Amino acid sequence: MKRKLLFASLALLVVGASLVTVFQRPIGEWLFARAIDARVGGNTMVLDDGLHLLLCGTGSPLPDPDRAGPCNVVVAGDQAFVVDIGEGGARNLQLMGFDIAGLDGVLLTHFHSDHIDGMGPLALLYWTQGTSTAPLPVYGPEGVETVIEGFNAFYATDKTYRIAHHGEEIVPPTGGGAQAMPFATGDAPVVVLDSDGLKITAFRVDHDPVKPAVGYRFDYKGRSIVISGDAAKSATLEQAAKGADILVHDALQPRLVGKMTAALERRGQANTAKITRDILDYHASPEDAAKSAQAAGVKRLVLSHLVPPLPTSFIYPAFLGDAKDNFDGEITVGEGGMVFSLEPEGDGIEVQERL
Ligand SMILES: [Zn+2]
Ligand SMILES: [Zn+2]
Repeated sequence: MKRKLLFASLALLVVGASLVTVFQRPIGEWLFARAIDARVGGNTMVLDDGLHLLLCGTGSPLPDPDRAGPCNVVVAGDQAFVVDIGEGGARNLQLMGFDIAGLDGVLLTHFHSDHIDGMGPLALLYWTQGTSTAPLPVYGPEGVETVIEGFNAFYATDKTYRIAHHGEEIVPPTGGGAQAMPFATGDAPVVVLDSDGLKITAFRVDHDPVKPAVGYRFDYKGRSIVISGDAAKSATLEQAAKGADILVHDALQPRLVGKMTAALERRGQANTAKITRDILDYHASPEDAAKSAQAAGVKRLVLSHLVPPLPTSFIYPAFLGDAKDNFDGEITVGEGGMVFSLEPEGDGIEVQERL
């Protein structure tokens, strides 16, 4: 009896499996239609009034299938700014349900390729999704004009195709591309923007020989977020980050990068080995970032621009090294999709995952 039952269930399983194979195409279409219906416009991010930090890319120029290039968004009430736009950043923002058309601008910390190579998709989505009649404003220290001039030239032909194909109603010719919004930097921090209770301040950081290189501080309704950009440890940064709720800091673990250098040398890849040695002096280590966070008295440290790539969270303790011994607050190893929310005039930090 038992054997018969076993045989019958096996036969049913085989028939079931072959039915699925035969009807895989219509089943696939049905599943896709259901999923797309829930997805398209169904996951729009809604944020309460307050200051929010979205991580849309926490990687570096080194290849990492799980991390986009450097990309952050700060939302303050109904204003929103992208800080650095690395490759894959705009894709993540879409997946997170963020409204790219509602952006007020981009802020660049410096012009290294990994901080600007996601600009194409972002500017395109800003234009097409929002029927924008003006280019995407891109704020940056002196030199941003040259970068944006080149960017617009690079995409000029693409722009003509989009207008010809979709029509001026959808993609107004006065929009598309980017508009440089330069500001001058000095030894003292400069206020880049002050509107509707949001103050954005830029301050110089040490990313030698890259000059200018800045970090940004956002203050809104008693809360603050500081983004270091690419920076080695410096007193200027610690001063600018004083009392911030969140400090987002770049982090490179020299002990792990040293192992990469040794492996590259063993395989005769002298050029890349030289680069992995050079990068040690212009990024902070997780320990340095922790010391700066402690010196500045920030509440929470979020590490981003992670070098080297970390294929699994199992490696996080090896990456962090002694960082936790140097900071009394909480340290988060940044991951794309994280959203940190700071309510006005309070001191709580709520975290959600959108990817
Ligand atoms: Zn850099
Ligand atoms: Zn970088």
